Amino acid sequence: MIIPSPSTDTKPYWQAAAQGALMLRYCEACATWRHPRHTHCTCGNPLTWRQSSGKGALLSFTVVHYGLNPELAEQVPYTITLTRCAEGPQILTAMPGDHKTLRCGMAMTVSFDRVTPTVTLPRFQPAPA
Ligand SMILES: [Zn+2]
Repeated sequence: MIIPSPSTDTKPYWQAAAQGALMLRYCEACATWRHPRHTHCTCGNPLTWRQSSGKGALLSFTVVHYGLNPELAEQVPYTITLTRCAEGPQILTAMPGDHKTLRCGMAMTVSFDRVTPTVTLPRFQPAPA
């Protein structure tokens, strides 16, 4: 498994995930939500952190059946999803298994997977009906 290494810039994101909250970036100057990896908006303004609703819609997905990366080989099959958060930013996450019931446009909701004592991964999955 590949475990992310929180940096000074992303530490609030990982701390919030450990508490069960998905954080996104927000530009106060142009009232626009941004992806969490960005520190500055396209308008040049520094971004702040805001809590996402954790809801979104599935834009795309792919099921990985062959582990080209040795660190992921034991996890196949797994599904990589691209979810557009209700606030706008698009987030890639992965979930174990081959999810044959996924459909683009379906409602998604975030869940949190504590993969190490210090890292909790947000993962989007189909919202309960
Ligand atoms: Zn801006």
